[in-house]
Amino acid sequence: MKIAVLSGKGGTGKTTVAASIATSLEQCQYIDCDVEEPNGAIFLKPDIKESLPVKVPVPRVEELKCSGCGFCAQACQFNTLAVVKGKVLVFQEICHHCGACLIACPQGAITEMDREIGVVEYNEDGTFMQGKLNVGEPISVPIIRELKRRVKNDMPVIFDCPPGASCTVVHSIEGCDYCLLVTEPTPFGVHDLKIAEQLVRKVGIPFGVVLNKALQANGSVQEFCGRNDVEILMEIPFSQAIAAYYSQGLLPAEYNPEWKDRFRKLYEKAERGVQG
Ligand code: SF4
Ligand code: SF4
Repeated sequence: MKIAVLSGKGGTGKTTVAASIATSLEQCQYIDCDVEEPNGAIFLKPDIKESLPVKVPVPRVEELKCSGCGFCAQACQFNTLAVVKGKVLVFQEICHHCGACLIACPQGAITEMDREIGVVEYNEDGTFMQGKLNVGEPISVPIIRELKRRVKNDMPVIFDCPPGASCTVVHSIEGCDYCLLVTEPTPFGVHDLKIAEQLVRKVGIPFGVVLNKALQANGSVQEFCGRNDVEILMEIPFSQAIAAYYSQGLLPAEYNPEWKDRFRKLYEKAERGVQG
């Protein structure tokens, strides 16, 4: 089974939940798709053995062949190319690698060259994988694709997704059997949970909610879930002890067997959610 752990907003405890499930299962593959800020490794402490560059093709213009006609810039839907005084300027960072400019060029003046945007890293048996996007790079989908090419099919897979509800999240949850939406009982938490809920409903993947930093006095998430027929699978209390261990890189499931059991049961509930 493939489970995606996502949250409408950052800082809700998404990685705590994803890494805790990974720690609680006998065997699984953990994939950190939060490529702008992967931090599952802080908790799972894998022995990284491989680091492979992720490269994307971007256009290169041969000035001697170029007539300055501007057809390439007209063909590009992403404003990656501009023709100024007969010279083609290429803004490589925002290229989406569609190849339209190559087809549009009547002079055959455009070829492609590789450009590195980040890396994928993994341990010896590939049960831990993470992507890292280079600082300043705006497009992370190719790294998510590279991670997903290495998904194992003979064990449970836990995806730690990027925060938000952008195309990187859509690519991360694609092909998953179940989504866990992690949220917190704040107005922002409820607002972003609503967006994440709409996303997973649209993609058509069964899902449930994990409420982190739960306070008895605040029932906003319970209210939202009740109104929208969404099941809350687990509540993690607002706790100074959990926060103190977290700051030392320790998960609740690591120092308390009860939590290990609770996260294993969370996985089983997700499994039943897929079957049901
Ligand atoms: S490959 Fe596509 S996105 Fe990139 S510059 Fe060419 S037309 Fe634009
Ligand atoms: S389409 Fe080809 S020839 Fe025309 S400006 Fe672009 S690169 Fe130059």
